[in-house]
Amino acid sequence: MLAPNPGPYTGPGTNTYLIHDGEQAAILDPGPVIDSHLAAIEQSLGELVPAAVIVSHNHPDHAPLANPLAQRLGIPSYGFAPGPDFTPDMMIVDGSTITVGSGELIAVHTPGHTWDHMCFLVGSELYTGDHIMEGSTVIIEDAAAYFDSLYRVLSLGAERLRPGHGDTIEDAAAAITEYIDHRHERERQIVAAVAAGAHVPAAITEAVYVGIPPELIPAAAAQVQVQLEKLISENRLVLTSPSSAEMHVVVPDER
Ligand SMILES: [Zn+2]
Repeated sequence: MLAPNPGPYTGPGTNTYLIHDGEQAAILDPGPVIDSHLAAIEQSLGELVPAAVIVSHNHPDHAPLANPLAQRLGIPSYGFAPGPDFTPDMMIVDGSTITVGSGELIAVHTPGHTWDHMCFLVGSELYTGDHIMEGSTVIIEDAAAYFDSLYRVLSLGAERLRPGHGDTIEDAAAAITEYIDHRHERERQIVAAVAAGAHVPAAITEAVYVGIPPELIPAAAAQVQVQLEKLISENRLVLTSPSSAEMHVVVPDER
């Protein structure tokens, strides 16, 4: 089910999934509190017995309807940790299983987009929340953790991805590999931009994100900063202004 919340960061809107075995159902990522979306979820349940409300991560486009929906249905909600938009009844960790009728969801902790992000493996399908989207890359909070989480989900060997935004991805391995390649390419571009004379996030953003709309530049600069932190920790770049407000970086042999 598609929540009616399209936008620059949500694509066509948030995907709410009904995961069921024909008798019992889990609702994954109910989305924002929107009356028509709540009604659509309840209607699509039909004769299915609701068993669980599950949240991939604490973002306003995925989580806020979870607590009210679980309360209405009289079932528990599941998530990694409490946050601003949602407090889980049941806390789950990496490897937790949630039983829904004859099937189960296996939780896979995938920090990077957010520290609390969970994907869910159901048979050969992986529900990816905002770890992987269809049609775009994702905003990340921690680049090193994000890389690790991409390799982690690649190792699961899922066949198909069910993203939090966009359509189902039929070739999981190809899509995950493309994400990893894209991240490596961005890192190469950043290091090259620094070597070519861009030393602060704004200048690096201008060099790397060529031609993006002006309103997206602050978000891109924030993404550059996150990636700089990883590159500095790996000694691929060197921070030369630890005390000043703006990061200033050089390539190692420039020092
Ligand atoms: Zn998110």
